[in-house]
Amino acid sequence: MQREVRTRYAPSPTGYMHIGNLRTALYEYLIAKSQNGKFILRIEDTDQERLVEGAVDIIYKTLKLCGLQHDEGPDIGGPYAPYVQSERKDTYLPYAKELIEKGHAYYCFCSKERLDALRKEAEEKGQTYMYDRHCLGLSKEEIEEKLKSGQPYVIRQKMPREGSTSFEDAVYGTITIENNMLEDQILIKSDGLPTYNFANVIDDHLMGITHVVRGSEYLSSTPKYNLLYDAFGWEIPVYVHLPLIVKPDGSKISKRKGDAGFHDLIEMGYLVKAIINYIALLGWSPESNQEIFSLEELVKEFNIKHISKSPSAFDMDKLRWFNAQYIRAMTPDEFYEHARPYLEKAITNKNIDLKKVSKLLQARTEVLTEIPSKVGFLNELTDYDLNIYVHKKMKTTLENSLESLKAAVPVLESIEDWNEETIHNKLLELVNQMGIKNGQLLWPIRTAITGWEVTPGGAVEIADLLGKEETLRRVHIGIERLEKALAGNC
Ligand code: GLU
Repeated sequence: MQREVRTRYAPSPTGYMHIGNLRTALYEYLIAKSQNGKFILRIEDTDQERLVEGAVDIIYKTLKLCGLQHDEGPDIGGPYAPYVQSERKDTYLPYAKELIEKGHAYYCFCSKERLDALRKEAEEKGQTYMYDRHCLGLSKEEIEEKLKSGQPYVIRQKMPREGSTSFEDAVYGTITIENNMLEDQILIKSDGLPTYNFANVIDDHLMGITHVVRGSEYLSSTPKYNLLYDAFGWEIPVYVHLPLIVKPDGSKISKRKGDAGFHDLIEMGYLVKAIINYIALLGWSPESNQEIFSLEELVKEFNIKHISKSPSAFDMDKLRWFNAQYIRAMTPDEFYEHARPYLEKAITNKNIDLKKVSKLLQARTEVLTEIPSKVGFLNELTDYDLNIYVHKKMKTTLENSLESLKAAVPVLESIEDWNEETIHNKLLELVNQMGIKNGQLLWPIRTAITGWEVTPGGAVEIADLLGKEETLRRVHIGIERLEKALAGNC
């Protein structure tokens, strides 16, 4: 019988959800779910210096928001609890001691000063620093003595000196590293806590993880982990290393350089589903040309075989495109739910029906945060450049715009039942009577009642939104301004 597929998302709680971390979580979820397996959340907090308050909550919230529901984890428990490494701290030392007994690890009492000096020396010679195995030569008695006297120590893995270590990665194929490149890495730190390098192996084994999915920056450390698995006689998991996500210019995405993390993207007005869809395709491609995928569809389609090795570029324009597709696909009510917080903030004119504005905006919005910049004219009519009346395609000039506005006043005044349909019908009647083109009436009205060159919606929709009184007030202002300008021209 095949083993149940078990993947784990193992973030360190640093408080920032890097796009690459989220993609790792997504792929782990997809690999597990596409094979009816389990997706586990484990918090890797053994590096106490990097801990950030509230960071674990951010992880829970993000997974929830993205629909990446884990089957086991610190908040929901499971058969291998606890799922937080700091709560498992007594688990690791006995394993490290087992390795010492088996000759695969050793105590190291080197002081920080000694190690710093070694590092400095290597740097000066332009060499890569590697621990010089000083403590490997200690006798049993010496070690016992130092332990008895309470000297601080770490436990290091003893790497083979000769030969090479190879492993198979599901994405990168066979990877071989010369053993003399492998440092005797620390397994247990002087504070008694394990390093990431040790804890991840122990926990992955104890938690029955079958597929280890993580960024390709871990490829070169993997032989060290495999030597640990071998030393314990444990089965090595399937490795799925994921390609780097870079910026379109090939450089690294980094928080320090101000690059957007997941939460920044949400604040910038991107939809969770669009982000998930887009990042699913950063390193994986489906068999068909389909681009829009729901999470359920991804579960059906996802296949490790189609993960690519080459770095994927995170392109904001492409994300914007995905976002626009998701906005178009919403029902008007769904869009209104998303748009409402932005509309409520941006539109201070209480007479405006926000739901109607939302309808006008849906086809014209790519990112929710653009909404405020599209609706300001509804609050007040500001001074505007009269040249926006002049539109080549609409065949409007200042003169015929003035004529149209003047003719529109009595017609608009006569409308009793103010709604889009009546406004539309009456204005088109007037167009016929005047024997002009639609645009020659509608463009000047739209311009007069908005004062903007580009608006969501035309004269009819905006007049309906503003109401009769405000529409007429703005049309009169337009007439006045045009008259003044034309009088000045004579
Ligand atoms: N805690 C590691 C990180 O956040 C996890 C790496 C792994 O998945 O093994 O980078």
